[in-house]
Amino acid sequence: MGTDRNEASDAAVQSGGVVVVGSYVQDHAWQVEQFPRPGETCRARGFATGPGGKGFNQAVACVRQGVPTAFIGAIGQDALGDVAQGFATAENLPCRWLRLADMPTAASSILVDASGQNQIAVNLSANERLNPDFIAAQADWFDAARVVLCQMENNLEAIAASFRLASQRPCLRILNPAPVHAGLDRSLLALVDILTPNETEFSLVHQRLGTAAVDPQALADMDDATLHALARKLDVPTVIITLGRHGCFVSHAEGAPLADAPCYRLAPEAVQTVDTTGAGDAFSGALAAALVLLRDQPFRNVVRHANRVAALSTEKMGTAPAMPRLDEVIARFGRSF
Ligand code: AMP
Repeated sequence: MGTDRNEASDAAVQSGGVVVVGSYVQDHAWQVEQFPRPGETCRARGFATGPGGKGFNQAVACVRQGVPTAFIGAIGQDALGDVAQGFATAENLPCRWLRLADMPTAASSILVDASGQNQIAVNLSANERLNPDFIAAQADWFDAARVVLCQMENNLEAIAASFRLASQRPCLRILNPAPVHAGLDRSLLALVDILTPNETEFSLVHQRLGTAAVDPQALADMDDATLHALARKLDVPTVIITLGRHGCFVSHAEGAPLADAPCYRLAPEAVQTVDTTGAGDAFSGALAAALVLLRDQPFRNVVRHANRVAALSTEKMGTAPAMPRLDEVIARFGRSF
């Protein structure tokens, strides 16, 4: 087991930036006419490989907003691990990696058929071995951070350790509960300032906690008061439900530090959508960035920026490579600050 640190990068978070603790997955995507049947080999029309994993995608979305961003993750001591470092360097994204000798770097296989449907197998491998000791060793990054952002492709101990470290410091904690971990409980949510589920995840979090039976398909059409009441049952100060092509819904607890109104919706931005994969990652990464960029502005403006970045990300294929840069967001929508 080893550690790869880029010490020159430490300055990146000194000024109150974002620390993302999350997953790295090397995606391999094949375009096929039809999915192969069991035992069949089919020829693919195209192939692409690139960086993925919800954590890394969100870190790329964040750093492309021009905000000091740093990433903590786990990879193997293998060729794909070296590729991960190459991607991070190309993005100017400082990373501290737990490098494992006995686990491979996480990888996924994605088949996309002619109708655009996909079949995915992913092995999270090294991501599940991120651990509290490794997180604790990065305390200096947490000292300087304004925002700490996690998802759920790592093990719960590492996520909880990240939020506990953050809670001892004056920084905001965002959890994108994707994919919802079977062990998610109230003790973890108690460490969170902002929760960013999509419709399915919102329903699953309620299911995990036993708080409500929620039909994810009904959420977009639900009235604000009902949605707000459901969001409040989770006991997280601020909940933002992303609603895909319906935009998003914001719900604050009474007296929540970020509250600018009890609840409101933001309409989707008009874009030419070609691929919504990674839109949720764009949203959470850009939300973290906007909390730094727009730190003295009403929270609504922060969410508007996330809504814009996420919408724009759907105009390109792929996940991390599809994340728009701040200048592209401004060129399309004007300045939100
Ligand atoms: P989702 O993870 O599908 O809920 O999407 C996350 C966010 O991406 C949404 O809250 C929107 O901000 C944005 N988004 C997704 N799909 C679209 C779309 N078709 N048009 C505009 N924005 C979108």
